[in-house]
Formats: sequence, C-alpha cells, structure tokens
Amino acid sequence: FLAGRMDITELSDRIIAGDRRALARAITLIESGRADHRAQAADLMEALKDTGREAMRIGLSGTPGVGKSTFIESFGMMLTAQGLRVAVLAVDPSSARSGGSILGDKTRMEHLSRDPNAFIRPSPSRSHLGGVARRTRETVALCEAAGFDVVLIETVGVGQSETVVAEMSDLFILLLAPGGGDELQGVKRGIMEMADIILVNKADGDLKPAAMRTRSDYAGALRLLRKRPQDPEGFPKAMTVSALQEDGLQTAWDEMQALVDWRRTERHFAARRAAQARYWFGEEVRQALLARLETAEARALMEDYAARVARGDLTPAVAAAQVLDRV
Ligand code: GDP
Repeated sequence: FLAGRMDITELSDRIIAGDRRALARAITLIESGRADHRAQAADLMEALKDTGREAMRIGLSGTPGVGKSTFIESFGMMLTAQGLRVAVLAVDPSSARSGGSILGDKTRMEHLSRDPNAFIRPSPSRSHLGGVARRTRETVALCEAAGFDVVLIETVGVGQSETVVAEMSDLFILLLAPGGGDELQGVKRGIMEMADIILVNKADGDLKPAAMRTRSDYAGALRLLRKRPQDPEGFPKAMTVSALQEDGLQTAWDEMQALVDWRRTERHFAARRAAQARYWFGEEVRQALLARLETAEARALMEDYAARVARGDLTPAVAAAQVLDRV
C-alpha cells in the first residue's frame, strides 16, 4: 500500500494540506486489518497528533426513521453555508454482523455529499463493534488533522454503539421523533444520561404538537438526572427541530457552541478528551490481546488445550492460564 516512512510523511503532509484523496487513502489504510498496514497507520496517527487543530466532534444517535440522515443533510448544509468544513462518519453496529452499512451512506445525504466543504465516509465494516469503533475513532482524528471544523459521528440507538460514539465525541446528541403519548419512547436511562442535547425532530405540520409534548416530557426527565460537573446551567437540554423544514437548526447549533465554549473555559473539554485517550488506550490493549488469540498458532494451541480440558486432564482455569502464558 505504502512503502517506508517517507511515504507516511508525505501522506500526512498532504492530509494537513487538505488533500481529500490523501485523506480517503489514509482512511483506507486505517481500516485495513493487515499487520503491516496497522503499523503504517500507527505511524501516520503519530505523525498527525500535533497539528494543533481541534474540530468539534459531535456524536449523533437515534433509532432508524427518526430523521438522522435528513438532519445531517440539513444541519451539514447549514454549517457549510457558514464556511465551515464538515466531516460525517458513522459507527454502524449492523456492519459488524452483515458487512452492509445502513449509516453514513452518501445516497442518504445527497446534497451534502456533493458539497466541496463536506466529507462523508460510511461505517467501516469489521467483524465486531470494537473494531468498527476503533477505526472510526482514528478517522475522527484524521479528519481533525485535515482541518475539518465539525466532525459528526452518526450511530443508531442500540446501546453499545452509543457508548463508543460518546467516547469519541465532545458532545453527544440524541435525536428523537415525536412520541404518541407521554411515554419516554423506551429510551434507556443510560442513553439519556449520555445526552448533552436531546433534539425532538419532525416538529412540523401535524406532528408539531406531539413534538412539543415529547420535548417537555424529556425536559422533565432530564431535570431529574443527577447534575454533572461538565454541564453549565440549563444542560442537558431538550429542544425541538424540523430537519425537513430546516427549522430550529441554527438554535441547536448555537446551543452546541455555547456548551462547548463553556466546557473549554472550564477545562472540561480537555479533561474529557484526556479521559477518552485513556479509554482508547485500554481498548487498544484489549483488542491487541484478542488479536493474539486469533492467529493460526493460537487457535491450534487453544484447540489442543480445549481437548485436554474436555478429557478432564486440566481444569479450564489452569488451561486458560497456560494458554495465556504462551500467546
Ligand atoms: P434515519 O433512518 O434516522 O436516517 O431517518 P431519515 O432521515 O431517513 O428519515 C426517515 C423519514 O422521516 C423520512 O421519510 C424523512 O423524510 C422523514 N423526516 C425526517 N426528518 C423529518 C422532519 O423534520 N419532519 C418530518 N415531517 N419528517 C421528517
């Protein structure tokens, strides 16, 4: 793919200069599972770590149908019209199972995908969510080094994927659709606790009254949550928007900026990124350990020990300790 360290230097220079083909190439390198590519990707990330550039990393979650792609299209177009450069990435847990991708698909964001100030990349397809998340997290850092002002990371509401997206975001947004009654749409408490801003979408036409009720239900629920040190007065908050009619998007953006500005001033911003760096370090170690178990030798060793455990020659715990000593 690339040969030698010189090429990594050149690739990183081009990324910093804003060369989109270089960025796309670098992402392909990062997504590769080959050991030599992993080593080059690690060099690249190292080369790009001190650009001094800082994007606003926004995690966005919502169940299918709430309007994520419509929102990203409208919101992204609004930002690029203001001269901002916007990258859109996705963490798609379904790609871990099917290899397909329901998120970050360019056809879902038709105008934005043709906007020269936007960059859209679908979710990497990996065998497990941990792999998807790890690669996306590096892509976020790449986009930041490439000078994007805003990096949106989209995911669907299925629990685990929200946690990993929150771990790579400066702020986390939960997108909801208007509910029928006064129930909280089965949104898990843990997810609500992650949200900095809840946006109730589709607040237009016939759905507007329901959207306003849903907003006020959530505003009430958010008030009951424990106050977090990283929140200024009034956060987390619930608001209504209409992605389709491009209504409330500027207000939502103003709130996001106000929140991030406050966190920067109060030093919560850097503290959160530092905590995230710790988390991803731990993930790297765990993933690397798991990868060691997946080599042909390790599999054969496991099989050998499994047979001995099955025969009753060794207990599972003793066998496991011996395997771990040897991989
Ligand atoms: P996703 O699956 O979360 O990406 O949702 P989509 O963006 O594909 O939207 C699902 C459906 O909701 C589509 O039919 C959209 O046209 C519709 N939709 C999205 N945003 C709005 C909105 O603000 N108002 C209304 N009325 N419909 C919307």
